[in-house]
Amino acid sequence: MFDREIIMEKDKKIALVAHDNKKRDLVEWAKFNRDLLAHHTIYATGTTGAILGRELGIDINILQSGPLGGDQQVGAKIVSNEIDFLIFFWDPLEPMPHDPDVKALLRMAVVWNIPMACNRTSADFMISSSLMDEEYVRRVPDYGAYSARKLK
Ligand code: PGA
Repeated sequence: MFDREIIMEKDKKIALVAHDNKKRDLVEWAKFNRDLLAHHTIYATGTTGAILGRELGIDINILQSGPLGGDQQVGAKIVSNEIDFLIFFWDPLEPMPHDPDVKALLRMAVVWNIPMACNRTSADFMISSSLMDEEYVRRVPDYGAYSARKLK
C-alpha cells in the first residue's frame, strides 16, 4: 500500500475536547497557551467549547455536545480533513454513555494519522513543537485499494 500525502497548513485545524472531570485541566492548559493557539482554527465539542469561549474569549467553532454526537462530528471532520489536530482529555476513571463514540474518535485519529494528545503532558510537548507553526506533510496509507476491493 502506497502512502498518500496530506498537507497540514501552518495554521492547524485543532479540535479541543474534554470530559467533565478533565475540563478544568483543558481550560487551564488552553489559557496558558492562548497566544500559541490564537492563529489556529479551533473546534470544540459543545460544553467544552462553551467554557473555553467564555474563559479565553477566542473564536471557537462549537459542535454538538460529545454525548449527543459531538465526538462523531469531530471524527467526521477528521475524515474530511476539516480537523487535523486533536487534543482530547478523556477521563480514564469514569464510564461514559458515549463510550463507543469516544473509541471511534480515537480510532479515526489513528486511521488518518493526525497528532492527538490525550493528556496534558502530551499536549504541552505538542504545542511547543516547532512543527505547530510550519507546513507539515502528513502521510496516510492510500486507502484507495481498500475502497476498490471486489467482494463476492
Ligand atoms: P462536551 O463533550 O464538551 O459537550 O462535554 C465532550 C465529550 O464528552 O466528548
